[in-house]
Amino acid sequence: MPKGHHYGRTQTRAYTGEYHRINANAFKSLLTTPLGSYSIDSEYLSANHRKLVLKENKNGVRYVTFTINDKPHKIALKLDNRSASNKLYITCPYCQKQRQHLYAIKHAYACRQCIGLHYASQSERPQDRLIRRIRKLRKELWGFDWPDVNNMFENIHYWPKPKGMRWKTFYMKRDKITELEKIYWPFVDSQIEKLSYLL
Ligand SMILES: [Zn+2]
Repeated sequence: MPKGHHYGRTQTRAYTGEYHRINANAFKSLLTTPLGSYSIDSEYLSANHRKLVLKENKNGVRYVTFTINDKPHKIALKLDNRSASNKLYITCPYCQKQRQHLYAIKHAYACRQCIGLHYASQSERPQDRLIRRIRKLRKELWGFDWPDVNNMFENIHYWPKPKGMRWKTFYMKRDKITELEKIYWPFVDSQIEKLSYLL
């Protein structure tokens, strides 16, 4: 891409290439085998990512459970009878959507989309993280339904002390938010500067 013609984030990170992928087809035999414990034969997977228990619910839908990091990860096996190929889908333990692949991440199995969302929240811009933190602290002090609690252009300096709170505590909490807002505003100024440069 020629210089000067790109804007925003064009970089895409290769999230999924880093993870071992399990294919829905690999579970196909589990549709007919007896219920019980099984193990995926793969040297790329951790012991917890390998061991699974096959069960069936009241409606006859089979599902497998992996216990990873002491938490159960339930994956349903869903056969698509509409297609001639009888394609098997496995459900993502996080979004419950039917997928053809799931990825073994550190303490779970998840679909590509859920992994992407996870990374998106990690690569959030620092000012977004800051604004979230400020809003959270404001809500803790003045409550969720305080008018303008989310409005960053409102000055908290004149907002009242909540009933029953000691003044000392109030000032301490408010000063903390004021400090963070002081860090936040230069970010905004530089954003506005960049914007006006582009316009
Ligand atoms: Zn998902």
